[in-house]
Amino acid sequence: MFGRKAAQKLDNAAAGLHSRYGKAGDAVANAVIAPVRRQIDTGCTRCSRGKCKKH
Ligand SMILES: [Zn+2]
Repeated sequence: MFGRKAAQKLDNAAAGLHSRYGKAGDAVANAVIAPVRRQIDTGCTRCSRGKCKKH
């Protein structure tokens, strides 16, 4: 069901929320995106592309 592409979308969505809304965006990401993201057994897709600012 969920694969690497979904993980990438979620990671990008979380990053987008962070850059647009800062801490409020992080709160939304943690509440909405993180639970889904944790079900996908894939490392941070932004880290693997060198675009991550969180890790
Ligand atoms: Zn990362």
